[in-house]
Amino acid sequence: MLKETKEEERLLAVYFIDLARFKNINDSFGHSVGDEVLKQMADRFRTVLDQKLFLTRAGGDEFVAVAPRVNYQSILAYVRTIQQVLARPFEIEGRELILSANIGISVFPFDGEDLNTLLGHADMALYHAKEEGKFYQFYHQTINQRLIRETILESHLHRAIERDEFILYYQPQYDLFTGELIRLEALIRWYNSELGWIRPDQFIPLAEKIGLMPKLDEWVLSTACRHRKMWKQKRGVEADLSINLSASHFQIPGMAKRLLSIIESNGDDPCRWEFEVTEHIMMQDSAVVYENISQLKEAGVKLAIDDFGVGYSSLGYIKKLKVDRLKIDRSFIKNLPQSADDQAIVAAVITMAHQLSIDVVAEGIENEKQIQILKEMGCNGGQGYFWRQPVSETEIGSLLQCNE
Ligand code: C2E
Ligand code: CA
Ligand code: CA
Repeated sequence: MLKETKEEERLLAVYFIDLARFKNINDSFGHSVGDEVLKQMADRFRTVLDQKLFLTRAGGDEFVAVAPRVNYQSILAYVRTIQQVLARPFEIEGRELILSANIGISVFPFDGEDLNTLLGHADMALYHAKEEGKFYQFYHQTINQRLIRETILESHLHRAIERDEFILYYQPQYDLFTGELIRLEALIRWYNSELGWIRPDQFIPLAEKIGLMPKLDEWVLSTACRHRKMWKQKRGVEADLSINLSASHFQIPGMAKRLLSIIESNGDDPCRWEFEVTEHIMMQDSAVVYENISQLKEAGVKLAIDDFGVGYSSLGYIKKLKVDRLKIDRSFIKNLPQSADDQAIVAAVITMAHQLSIDVVAEGIENEKQIQILKEMGCNGGQGYFWRQPVSETEIGSLLQCNE
């Protein structure tokens, strides 16, 4: 069954079914009545469950059913069928007996690759079903672990700003033709003494969920302002910076004013800043978003569309928002120059952008060949491990000094 299920790329479900209070039946009516109930149960299962399902008595009042080659819907449909089998009362020696049960379910391939593991996990799920008084319970190892980790992360994330656990790293962007450093992108890092380093892909979506992004964006901006001031004062160098902002933040009235006041209170010039935002910003075609963007643009802040090409975008917004730069997502750059499809997409984006007088930066450049083909296509800038990975504020400080 496992082999067939695997070949067809479907799912296999193991149901551990445990009858509740069966001991009472044996104790009150004797073992022959108990035997009779079990036989009737097996007969009922045989008639309602289709041929595909394999059923066995695992011992005592426990049954195991295995459903091979199924999908999510049929997994749940079988749970309901089992429920119906049990719901009808059993007639034994002129009496009506009603049984109830608990079911633990494990699913191949998520909860195990072999029968023993799947049985063990279905058994564990059964234990939880009984504990919590539920009719059925999935084992769902991955989902369980993710839930636990998310809950822990979340509780730490709430306090991460006040505990000073975030750190800003910087990755340079270069002009592909002159080789000059054009600006630095600030990228956030989180270090927690209990959890270790946590990648932004892991905590940004969570921060988004718990409404922390506006606070985090403000922290990033004021920290980057501080760093820029330090490089200027201590090393005599000046760099243009870009920061990533949450698309949802643009929906909050007064967002632009608050961010601009952070720049100004640091004695900084908004023209030195670029804000990167993903195409998601366009999913929310609201007046507040436009208001915030036009205030930022009026003050001189530049706007870049990050990860361009992966989201759904109506191209009209690029003009409407007066975008300054498109950053082509790494997924289109990764397979250059081999992939003809990616090459066609990148070429089209560059042509379109240039006709609208918009600069283009390619993300995730890792080798010389990519630079070559991007230059041929007229791409302005690049960023990626080819030059360097994101590095700490001190390292960037000395890099800037060498560049002078
Ligand atoms: P992003 O804005 O697209 O940032 C670029 C990501 O690609 C960074 O990952 C960077 O380290 C990585 N990268 C750069 N060059 C290369 C390359 O050549 N090869 C490969 N494989 N990767 C490369 P990072 O720092 O882990 O950030 C991941 C994402 O988290 C960012 O994607 C951004 O969406 C988000 N993020 C990071 N910092 C912030 C922040 O301060 N605020 C917000 N709102 N989001 C942030
Ligand atoms: Ca970015
Ligand atoms: Ca990006």
